[in-house]
Amino acid sequence: MARYCDAVCRLCRREAMKLYLKGERCFKEKCSFETRKGKIPGQHGAGKMKKPTGYSLQLREKQKVKRIYGVLEKQFRLYFEKADAKKGQTGHNLLAFLESRLDNVIFRLGFTPSRAAARQMVMHGHVKVNGRRVDIPSFQTKSGQSIELFERAQQNEFVKSSVETAAGRGIPKWLTLDAAAFKGQVIAIPTREDVPLEINEQLIVELYSK
Ligand code: SF4
Repeated sequence: MARYCDAVCRLCRREAMKLYLKGERCFKEKCSFETRKGKIPGQHGAGKMKKPTGYSLQLREKQKVKRIYGVLEKQFRLYFEKADAKKGQTGHNLLAFLESRLDNVIFRLGFTPSRAAARQMVMHGHVKVNGRRVDIPSFQTKSGQSIELFERAQQNEFVKSSVETAAGRGIPKWLTLDAAAFKGQVIAIPTREDVPLEINEQLIVELYSK
């Protein structure tokens, strides 16, 4: 499956919840989920919605999580398999793997206003993990690792304003941030309580366990 390149706000309306894919715009009144509330995108969007079945609920939950983290089907399946093989609750493990992705950590630290921008920042080589350049957005961060930006990215006005705005929203407790140095640290593995998303990961486990 190719990467989704259409208007991302359609995805929020399709999943009937805000997925926060566009950064600052998502927190403003012009968010299209707010302005076009209840309108499902597409030719038949205005039509009456069918009553959801058990399968469709599971499928929608999986699509929602994939879209939030910007992960394609094959990679998402691999995350599930790793989560299933690991000790503990599969759904919680799955979210921990997704949260620990380097692009998500950059977003959570507030260096960028969205995961898509964080992904681009990593791919363009602006990020160091433990002092070494890492340009793989799916890189799994671990407890104890430091994450910082190269000097050039630190001078970027877009990054500076993102850090200022994000400071007001707070940093998750599994991360620490030295905003002045554009440097963060992973201090723990994220737990389910650390993932502030309205999702039912159990439905995804049921879908893939068929
Ligand atoms: Fe979703 Fe953000 Fe677009 Fe609103 S602005 S519809 S939250 S992507």
